[in-house]
Parts: sequence; structure tokens; C-alpha cells
Amino acid sequence: MASSRWLRVAMSLTGAVTLLFLSAFEKQAAGKPDKMPWSELQRRYHGVFVLSATRETRKVALTFDDVPDPRYTPKVLDILKKKKVRATFFVVGSRTKKHPGLVKRIHREGHVIGNHSYFHPDFSKLPLGKMQEQIRRTETLLLNVVGFKPRLIRPPYGEILQDQVKWAKKERYTVVNWDVDSYDWKQLTGNKIYRNVTRTVRPGSVVLMHAGGGAGQNLSGTVDALPRIIDWLRNNGYELVTLTELLDVPEQHNLNIPLP
Ligand SMILES: [Zn+2]
Repeated sequence: MASSRWLRVAMSLTGAVTLLFLSAFEKQAAGKPDKMPWSELQRRYHGVFVLSATRETRKVALTFDDVPDPRYTPKVLDILKKKKVRATFFVVGSRTKKHPGLVKRIHREGHVIGNHSYFHPDFSKLPLGKMQEQIRRTETLLLNVVGFKPRLIRPPYGEILQDQVKWAKKERYTVVNWDVDSYDWKQLTGNKIYRNVTRTVRPGSVVLMHAGGGAGQNLSGTVDALPRIIDWLRNNGYELVTLTELLDVPEQHNLNIPLP
């Protein structure tokens, strides 16, 4: 008798613990709807979510985020012009609104333009509709400034959810993060930035750098390191190309091209 009562108590306790565990699990799942490691996103959404290109050719793409910024973007553009390098710039809509001339210059000098949202929010904290608004508001502005909507998207902080990548796939965008972080956003010295890039770059790499910063953010290390990074890459047999050349996709957004 006693043992069966204890068994019932034990069973209902187990049930309660299981229920608690499940509800905690569901809460966690609801809080993070579908955050997925980058490598997994790249595997599942091949050609839509990209970290790097084929390792078979010695091509590398330098990418500069958070532009335009009158403090640093012109300096980076001057270096690229002098070194005859074409790069890729991920522009922020709200900054483009303030300095459209700088975005025009980026385009005029042969660089590729990508969409880096309007206000630079963390997409993984936004519902899909709000994320779409960030992309569309920026591309509508860019249509006025440079005459086209970009195909490339880089989410701020590289943060993006699976349903947002799914939407990008359906809409024929290409979402590009990076496999080499210069960590220049940590306001490092030129020497450290140079080392971060040259020690980790490989054929097909996408290199994250910045040509724009937040208020008070100092990117003079980037400006200092950039000429040396370019020289090192060339001396080591790398060809510097735009992201669209590296990935073989068009710069302009076009809904009519087939899915990858
Ligand atoms: Zn950014």
C-alpha cells in the first residue's frame, strides 16, 4: 500500500518536473525563434547566406561597413583609388540620407554597394516585417541616390534569423557576412588590424572592415593598415575583387533571376 502511494507521488513529481522543463524549453524556443550558427545557415541556404567564396582561386573581397561617414569614408576611398582596388561598401540608409554625395562617390569610383539596413538594428531582435522595412527603406533611398537597389545585404553585427534568410532567398537577395574579421571596430592599432587580416585570410575570403563608425569611434587604425594589407595580399598572389565578382552575382537586385 505504502509503496504504491509513494510510487504515485514519485510519478506525479516526475510529471511536474517534466512539464516545468518543457515549458522552460518552449519559452526559450519562443524567445529565440530560429537563431542558427552561421555555418549551419550557410549549409542550409547555400548561395543565399554566404561567409566566403570558393577556396580554389586566390581572390579576396575587402568589405567596408557602416558607410558613409565623412570622417573615414573619403580616406578609405582615396587609398583604394591610389592602389587601384575595387571593394564593396555596405551602406546604412540613415547615413546615406545625410551624406548622399559620399555614396555617389563610392558608386562612381567603381565600388560595389550593398544594403546594411536603415538604422543599423540587430535583425535577430526584429520581427520579419520590421527587418523587411529596414531593407526596403534603404533600397528605395539608394534607388534615388545611385539609381538601383542592391542585391547584397549585410545584417548589422552579422545577426540574422532563419526566417529572414528564407525571405531573402525568396526575394533573390544575397546575404553576406564574412570569414575574416579585422576587428578594426574595436579601434585597434593599424599593426593589429594588419596582423588580424594577414594571419587569417585564405583564398575566397570575405574581409570585414569599416569605413564608418559610431560617434567617437576611432577608425584611424583601419586607414593606417589598409595600404599595407593591400600590398601584402598582392605580394602573396591574391587578387582583390568586389563581392559581386567573388560570388558571381549581379550588383543590382533583380527578381527575375533564378534561385541558386
Ligand atoms: Zn555595421
